[in-house]
Amino acid sequence: DIQEVPMTKSVVLADPRGFCAGVDRAILTVQTILKAAESSGKLHREDGLPPVYVRRQIVHNKHVVEDLAGQGAVFVQELSEIPDAAAAAGIPVVFSAHGVSPVVKSEAQRRGMHVVDATCPLVGKVHREVLRFVREGYEIVYIGHKGHDEAVGVVGESPEHVHLIEHESDVDSLDFAPDTKLVLLSQTTLSVDETAGTIAALKARFPWIEEPPSSDICYATSNRQAAVKLVAQQSDCVVIVGSANSSNSVRLMEVAQEGLGERGKAYRVDDANELDPSWFEGVESVGISSGASVPDELVSGVIDTLRNQGFTGMKSVETIKENMHFVLPAELRRKK
Ligand code: SF4
Repeated sequence: DIQEVPMTKSVVLADPRGFCAGVDRAILTVQTILKAAESSGKLHREDGLPPVYVRRQIVHNKHVVEDLAGQGAVFVQELSEIPDAAAAAGIPVVFSAHGVSPVVKSEAQRRGMHVVDATCPLVGKVHREVLRFVREGYEIVYIGHKGHDEAVGVVGESPEHVHLIEHESDVDSLDFAPDTKLVLLSQTTLSVDETAGTIAALKARFPWIEEPPSSDICYATSNRQAAVKLVAQQSDCVVIVGSANSSNSVRLMEVAQEGLGERGKAYRVDDANELDPSWFEGVESVGISSGASVPDELVSGVIDTLRNQGFTGMKSVETIKENMHFVLPAELRRKK
């Protein structure tokens, strides 16, 4: 007797996904300051000042930012929004994981602010590369997204020598004499495949252009893209959890879409509330991953919602085990 077993609709989960070491460290930085303020009774100050200011979103995820704001952190866009009294009172100002331009650092110094720099060390590496190559007389072609916090910070190291391009099609707009020393650097969260195309075009036009000793696209970005690529091959549709302003989350969605091709669509959501049941009509397996700034609870929320819609099977696609960890910023280690 052959019994018919109904096909299980399933979820295919990418591993690695979610938090990277730089995001972990940046969030822990703000949490550590909040905790210290709480234990010294300075979480709610008499002068009405907050226990900590954070310049820009600490990481590009609205849930993380709302959570820390709920615990007392005050987020500002620019240092000018922070009153002088805060510097005088020794209130820390945290710089986000994306890094800042030297102009911002000088302003903080001029105003006597107590800076805790949560710039990811892998972003810091690109800043140091800019300084080193400029010192050695190079012009730098920087592949990045105009206006993104990380790109603004890196270009700010040397606006006259760093030439930002976004896509392969921008290569034609560059013009350098053949005796110009040239090197290419990039934002940490780009698409590995798309960037390879841009680099090939750069090399075709400027065959003498040099590359840094190791790629500027960080381990977390390339690992998450490699995993989602495999997941997309095994799915009919992919959901990426991550905010719209998160560069690496948006790249994950693009990589997933590339992998799905004509077979299906890739979507990006901030959380389960944004899932649209119509996306999953006729779909047997939904691939899931999340950007480097996304807490795993948000992914669990998406999985729960899909389970309620009949996706009861679950499979994990693991491509690599990550064990990267960064120590807290020096300003906090000194205080311990
Ligand atoms: Fe650092 Fe990469 Fe994470 Fe950005 S995505 S914070 S560069 S580890």
